[in-house]
Amino acid sequence: MSGEAKQKQEKQGLLMIYTGNGKGKTTAALGLAMRAVGHGRRVLMLQFMKGDDSYGECKAARMLPGFEIVQKGLPTFVERGNPGAEDLRLAGEAIAEARDALTSDKWDMVILDEINVAVDYGLVPLAAVLELLDARRPGLDVVLTGRGARPELVKRADMVSEVLEIKHHYQKGVPAREGIEY
Ligand code: ATP
Ligand code: MG
Repeated sequence: MSGEAKQKQEKQGLLMIYTGNGKGKTTAALGLAMRAVGHGRRVLMLQFMKGDDSYGECKAARMLPGFEIVQKGLPTFVERGNPGAEDLRLAGEAIAEARDALTSDKWDMVILDEINVAVDYGLVPLAAVLELLDARRPGLDVVLTGRGARPELVKRADMVSEVLEIKHHYQKGVPAREGIEY
C-alpha cells in the first residue's frame, strides 16, 4: 500500500458493532472509550433506553476529561413492541442528538449504546439509523451496541463482534451487582 493510501485508510473512521446475548457489549464499548480517551480523543457515549446516572460508568465519565455519557431514556424498562409516549420522545431526542454528534467535529468517537435494542423494540426506525450512518463525518469512529443487531447494520460495519453467552451468574440467582452490572 502506498503511503498516501495508508494515510487515507488510517483517517477513515470505523463502524464497529458489539452484539449478541452474552454479557459484555456495553462494557466492551466502554473499554474502547477508555483506550481512546487515553490518547486524548474525545468520546461521547449516547445511551438509548437508559436513565440512571448512578451507574459506575457515568460516575467514571465525570472523572475523565474528554469522555461524556448522555442518557436518553427512563429509569424503567421499555416494553418490547409497545413503548410509551415518553420512551418514544426520548428515543427521538437521542436520534437528533446522535445526528448532531455524528456530523460535528466535536467528537472523535461516538458510541450509540443499546441502539440495536431501540430498533428491535420499535423505538427507533432502522431507516433513521441508516440515515445517521450515511451522514456521519468520515473520520469519526462509531460504535453501536445491543443485542439483535440488524443485518443491514452488520453489512455496513467494519467490525462486528458477537458476545456468545456460555453462562451468566444471573442463572444461579446472583442479582445485579454494583461494579459488575452497573
Ligand atoms: P454489560 O453492560 O455488562 O457489558 P451487556 O451490555 O452485554 O452487558 P445488555 O444486553 O445491555 O448487556 O444487558 C444489560 C444488563 O443485563 C447488564 O446488567 C448485564 O449484566 C445483564 N446481562 C447481559 N447479558 C446477560 C445474560 N446473558 N443473562 C443475564 N443477564 C445478562
Ligand atoms: Mg448493554
